[in-house]
Amino acid sequence: MIIAKDCVVAVNYHLTVPGENGEGETTVEQTSVQDPFVFLFGVGQLLPEFEGNLSGKKVGDTFDFRIEAENGYGVYQLEHIVNIPMTAFLDEEGKLDTEMIAEGKQVPMMDNEGNRLWGKVLAVETEHVRMDFNHPLAGKQLHFVGEVIEVRAAEADELAHGHAHGPGGHHH
Ligand code: ZN
Repeated sequence: MIIAKDCVVAVNYHLTVPGENGEGETTVEQTSVQDPFVFLFGVGQLLPEFEGNLSGKKVGDTFDFRIEAENGYGVYQLEHIVNIPMTAFLDEEGKLDTEMIAEGKQVPMMDNEGNRLWGKVLAVETEHVRMDFNHPLAGKQLHFVGEVIEVRAAEADELAHGHAHGPGGHHH
């Protein structure tokens, strides 16, 4: 069976991005044969280029491909760096949680439409906190190297739910 729409696929892969200062590669994610990445193929949940590079492969096939930032998690955008007024971070007593709001910390925030998003604290100033709302992998070329572990037809309930069940998938 080859990878095509409505298959459940298990892959073991190593994802790296270029290292700081362009030296070497930095590991972002490493799955294993025992605990691979399992997903329902062709339902638009993953990066289209990731699926495109796996389409037509079968169990035992290997892969080694790169996805440019603009087709991955987007290019790094300076306008996603924002100064947020300090008042937004103060508790009822007007205190700042300096453990949580500190340089380098990822903080759960909410945008004007009420969507949850993560921001990275770049600097804590007197009047504001400077935050970066770029995806952590924005601006990075993604490099996937791995092997196809399993390919099977999706069950009817998996197609209805839009995700894989069983080991590595959803449990319910
Ligand atoms: Zn389900």
